[in-house]
Amino acid sequence: MSPLVVRRDDLASLESYHSPQVPAEVRLNTNESPMPPPPAWPDAFASEIARIDANRYPDRGATALRGALAELHGVEPTEVFCANGSNEVLQCLLLAFGGPGRLAATFEPTYALHAFIARLTGTPVVSGSRNQRFAVEFDDAKAMLTEHSPTLTFLCSPNNPTGNADPIELIERIVGVAPGLVVVDEAYGQFAPASATGLRGLPGADGLVVVRTFSKTWALAAARLGYLLGDAEVVSACEAVALPYHLSAYTQAAGLAALGFRAEMEERVALVSEERGRVAAALGGLAVDAWPSVANFILFRPTARPASAVWQGLLDRSVLVRDVSGRPELAGCLRVTIGTAAENDRFLGALEESLR
Ligand code: PMP
Repeated sequence: MSPLVVRRDDLASLESYHSPQVPAEVRLNTNESPMPPPPAWPDAFASEIARIDANRYPDRGATALRGALAELHGVEPTEVFCANGSNEVLQCLLLAFGGPGRLAATFEPTYALHAFIARLTGTPVVSGSRNQRFAVEFDDAKAMLTEHSPTLTFLCSPNNPTGNADPIELIERIVGVAPGLVVVDEAYGQFAPASATGLRGLPGADGLVVVRTFSKTWALAAARLGYLLGDAEVVSACEAVALPYHLSAYTQAAGLAALGFRAEMEERVALVSEERGRVAAALGGLAVDAWPSVANFILFRPTARPASAVWQGLLDRSVLVRDVSGRPELAGCLRVTIGTAAENDRFLGALEESLR
């Protein structure tokens, strides 16, 4: 290779973050919606698409989509920023508020991309820990935030991959002591009993940012659409670092069309939550330790066989789950996404066999 091809030294140690896309009949490894969008969604999407001037760049302000999201959450459109998946939202936050000489804080184990994107943007990361139940402890968080003064503090509620949510009072207290922005990643927020969105607008909560996605509840992982709710200044800062016309007119149309199906989406959340209860109960009768979850996935640890053997046993039966056992705090653990009833039955049957 040419000596001019010199990769960034600081990225050499980063393992790229990609869930393996292994062929399998039952795919329960990436926490998507197991159901497609409602049957009437394709027509709604088609009529939105018919309005697009394909020869023109998209609306840079994503006006219609932001307006609809603002209405959904009872905020102003100036308090909404949309991007290509919540991952791009996180990247914009880190580009705007992170960077060399600043710090981002995470509480491990959590969504690996918080630290990963931080490093991509040259933002050093300081990692706090969680207790035995994977909860963030306020006193530990306060001590860490006071010592390091991060410009961004990431919470994840419900937390991926552990499935537990942060109590709203805890989030409120952390916002009260954090020196910079507190970013609450609510990719799985609709599955949990409470949301930090209700804290936005409270006095002293200017620094609170809530991030959401269309990839899970809204059954649109293929569209790549996410957004944040935050102070108008935070939104302007994100707009300033996003590439021009980053959000295609087709992506905006997909999201806008989906917002017309709120009741159907809520029904799906109810179905997935019910299935989660059924899977959790079934896991209780198997040789695994499983953690309580308020998300659309469950973390569990096989007690009698190594996680890698169980993962392979499942794959041999064409069921793909996420192997998170390589992370120190999650040694021996696997994570399964809640699927349709039939998929969950396949998983439970294959798991029982793989544990033998
Ligand atoms: N946040 C969390 C906690 C996630 O688990 C995910 C998806 N795995 C994302 C953000 C990213 O979702 P997307 O980019 O599809 O919106």
